[in-house]
Amino acid sequence: MTQVIRTAAELRDKVAAWKRSGMLVGVVPTMGALHDGHLSLARAAREQSDRVIVTVFVNPMQFNNASDLDKYPRDEAKDLALLEAEGVDVLFAPGVDEVYPDGFATTVSIKGITEPLEGAFRPGHFDGVATVCSKLFGMTQAGRAFFGEKDWQQLQVVQRLVRDLNIPTRIIGCPTIREEDGLAMSSRNVRLTEAEREVAPRLHEIMQLAAAEIRDGVSAQIALTNAEAALLEAGFREIEYLELRTVDGLRPAEDLSEPARMLVALWLGDVRLIDNIAV
Ligand code: AMP
Repeated sequence: MTQVIRTAAELRDKVAAWKRSGMLVGVVPTMGALHDGHLSLARAAREQSDRVIVTVFVNPMQFNNASDLDKYPRDEAKDLALLEAEGVDVLFAPGVDEVYPDGFATTVSIKGITEPLEGAFRPGHFDGVATVCSKLFGMTQAGRAFFGEKDWQQLQVVQRLVRDLNIPTRIIGCPTIREEDGLAMSSRNVRLTEAEREVAPRLHEIMQLAAAEIRDGVSAQIALTNAEAALLEAGFREIEYLELRTVDGLRPAEDLSEPARMLVALWLGDVRLIDNIAV
């Protein structure tokens, strides 16, 4: 049985009991509307820890757009059923007032790694992520926390956070889970229309093509310019960024002299999609 816990106090008692018996606690932070991507993290947590907490909290502080927050899908009953099937011990689903009670005044802000890419297009987003993750690590006392590579920059930000603040939670990155046609799973995908859903897998396809070109020696600048044209032609709009960056530190990369990652954010209809692949 997965136990639903809504307060930090109740969670603390539960975790304290586990820790007294020497158990390693794993946490999977999510915003709910769970899909196989999230469940793959729960499975990794199950394998690598003695007890698993999945947190579901749609964190207002990390939304830079009120309508995105409003429209964010929520379905706790379904989430709970999925977590039960995965043998998750606790679903921690606090309300906004539990996480940000009256008088809450702290923001965790990280320089450098948060500034390009998502940081440039979603002002304040990573302050929200870093603040809520600090709180969730504190509340769960987890020894391990599992994050998806789907949000590649977020994964780097959280690594920086635990190093910089000596938070005793080890961050484990897990591979992106995709639909059969290549579309990276995302809670926001349910907001795509049928026609948009047909276009969506072209993103991964076009990125892979560009990555192959770069590996074959085509300059990144040319490969990415061609990819942008192909994306617009396919029906995507407003490419916020499509870039090659170093794996280490997310610095701009022009070639493959260092391990690199291709990262993208763009819009398909009303839905903002992000993705990234190894190059
Ligand atoms: P979210 O609920 O979107 O905030 O995501 C919660 C966690 O699930 C984050 O660590 C994400 O990176 C991860 N995640 C989301 N989508 C996927 C996916 N398709 N594959 C693997 N992990 C994912």
